[in-house]
Amino acid sequence: MVIVMAPGATDEQIGAVVDRVSGAGGEAFVSRGDTRTIVGLVGDIDRFHGLNLRALPGVAEVVRISTPFKLVSRQHHPQMSTVFVGESRVPIGPDTFTLIAGPCAVETAEQTLAAAQMAVAAGATLLRGGAFKPRSSPYAFQGLGEDGLRILADVRTETGLPVVTEVVDVADVELVAEYADMLQIGTRNAQNFTLLQAVGEIGKPVMLKRGMSSTIEEWLMAAEYIAQKGNLEVVLCERGIRTFEKATRNTLDISAVPVAHDLAHLPVVVDPSHSGGRRDLVVPLSRAAIAIGADGIIVDVHPHPDTALCDGPQALVDGDLRALATAVRQLAPLMDRSPALPTA
Ligand code: PEP
Ligand code: MN
Repeated sequence: MVIVMAPGATDEQIGAVVDRVSGAGGEAFVSRGDTRTIVGLVGDIDRFHGLNLRALPGVAEVVRISTPFKLVSRQHHPQMSTVFVGESRVPIGPDTFTLIAGPCAVETAEQTLAAAQMAVAAGATLLRGGAFKPRSSPYAFQGLGEDGLRILADVRTETGLPVVTEVVDVADVELVAEYADMLQIGTRNAQNFTLLQAVGEIGKPVMLKRGMSSTIEEWLMAAEYIAQKGNLEVVLCERGIRTFEKATRNTLDISAVPVAHDLAHLPVVVDPSHSGGRRDLVVPLSRAAIAIGADGIIVDVHPHPDTALCDGPQALVDGDLRALATAVRQLAPLMDRSPALPTA
């Protein structure tokens, strides 16, 4: 069961709901979105019905949720959520199409700035870039750590682009949140429940990649872990799943976009770089993402992919970026979406 608070509900009114539920032996989880707060209830639902919660001041609605994920479910929130990123509040949501671009990994200040400038030229309004890299091989470049975060912050100052960057360890969540505008949870950590809870507590937007072998329900349950700790500012990212197919790095499950949109009120973006794993597939997969109704895409770009320390074969260079920019400019309006520009 979920209690939807009215837009202007006060902390006291939210506290009164929590107290009444706790008094009846239940548990109440408060989650804050950009425009409203919801309270998820766990315990004896029949008993909650007797509490007359709907009559409490500040309560807009009491909704029984039949899906296993409650707070992210669309059942209490039919209109899709918009997540705003950074001080300039770049939207990711139903009315816009957000292009997120940048290097797979932060390697040097020069490389990151050059990649960010390529991203801006293509119309990106958010910068991606990994400072902590979860690599399949312990011998591969692991990222620059805090030095990489500093570079991202400098490039944000230089370009104005808010930063999306991955956190791979609970111990680093506070550090990464000091620098990042949005925290990314990678596919390899998609069911690292303590990490999901930690980013749920930090109060910054989160991009949650789908686990490479997660079902859509498992992906939404992962989002529920973040929401249950108080944070509803979650963007889902379909980045391809493991299948028997070897021609592509992963298989982009394009149908996951409308399925997730149907089940959850969270925005959904597509990562055509990590799904295809090939430069030549990024633009076609991006077109598919726009056409199927994704709220944005996140793509790798690199000024010198041949010498990239991570994922060079899938990084876009200038010519591809022009094709990508054209696809976004021409196709997104057909889906009733405008470019996701800063709103503050
Ligand atoms: C990334 O975006 O840099 C990344 C590692 O992606 P994924 O977790 O989807 O593999
Ligand atoms: Mn990568």
